Amino acid sequence: MRALTWHGKHDVRVDTVDDPGIVNPRDAIVRVTSSAICGSDLHIYDGLIPAMSAGDILGQEFMGEVVEIGAASTLRRGQRVVVPSTIACGGCYHCAKQQYSACDNGNPPENQDLASLHYGLPSAARFGCGRMAGGYSGGQAEFVRVPFSDTGPLVVPDGVADDRLLLLADTLPAGWQAAQNADIEAGDTVAVWGCGPVGLCAVQASRILGAERVIAIDHYTHRLEQARALGAEAVNFSHTYVHEALIDMTGGVGPDACIDAVGMDAHGTFFEMIADPVNSSISPTMKPSHVIYQAIMACRKGGRISMSGCYGGMIDSFPLGALMRKGLMLRSGQADVQRHMPQLLRLVLDEAIDGAFLISHRHDLEQAADAYLQFHYARNEVTKVVLTTGVYRL
Ligand SMILES: [Zn+2]
Repeated sequence: MRALTWHGKHDVRVDTVDDPGIVNPRDAIVRVTSSAICGSDLHIYDGLIPAMSAGDILGQEFMGEVVEIGAASTLRRGQRVVVPSTIACGGCYHCAKQQYSACDNGNPPENQDLASLHYGLPSAARFGCGRMAGGYSGGQAEFVRVPFSDTGPLVVPDGVADDRLLLLADTLPAGWQAAQNADIEAGDTVAVWGCGPVGLCAVQASRILGAERVIAIDHYTHRLEQARALGAEAVNFSHTYVHEALIDMTGGVGPDACIDAVGMDAHGTFFEMIADPVNSSISPTMKPSHVIYQAIMACRKGGRISMSGCYGGMIDSFPLGALMRKGLMLRSGQADVQRHMPQLLRLVLDEAIDGAFLISHRHDLEQAADAYLQFHYARNEVTKVVLTTGVYRL
């Protein structure tokens, strides 16, 4: 089959590789119809993710058709499925609590040492993220082996375009959980840092969960326009002091809840993220330390911080005193995708939440390497790239 493979920093190629096969009874093989390139894939492209190997197949967000099943799979051939980015067993202590992103069994023991060393305990598995996340091949390919197929994939109806369903695999659940983790109450003012796909989904989710006002913060003008179209007020940090703006816009109180939808960006290595001086509340690049610093400093006393952006290592200049003295709640974590998918499917079908508008570019899988390059250099215009393979369903 054809697949997008990683070979090093800024070196990805479409290669011919072996077709995947059933390994365990709970496996299924999915023929991919649509696969997204995510911001997280750009972290891999930029060489920020450790334990990648030449030839690894990327792709965390994909959907397709079941073409082969193991003896214990609950899927049927021909079913149309969206596959969650998180690989979870469905039976461990954490899965029983629906904390799928903390599953103990998705990531094979031989791959868990690196995460245990840095995080104290092994981390869970994801598609297309290298050995530290289980070493599973991703969905930027014609076919994918899906482990634990009785727990993960969401069967979706025919007659609904891939574009409307694809982001159920990761982006929509990530934005939804970001808002949920902010414990939004009716009438709240919510500030969202980062108007990438997850941030824009968090804007929508915040409104659904009861926020009266959402303030979106970014410096990409196109993305801020998208936030405005969703009903948010926009703050462009390239020419506005974010802290002062948020305090001013909330009558001196500060937002009730603050969502960090930025996370790690290309300003440090995974484990050696170097913090920047945080004396200034304005940053030309919105580096990670600035986002969490600004969120904690601007949040109202007794408010809530939701950190949904992806981080890897240590960070300096963390305003621990402000967090404690202001009585803030801080929650974080990767999305427990399987938990949110059924509810979000209903919201998508009811047209209450939308991921399709985020898709800005579309390419055939064969053009995937060029698509990465384009995404890397044009983040204002490019919000979400979709790679299509074989049959594309309108
Ligand atoms: Zn589990």
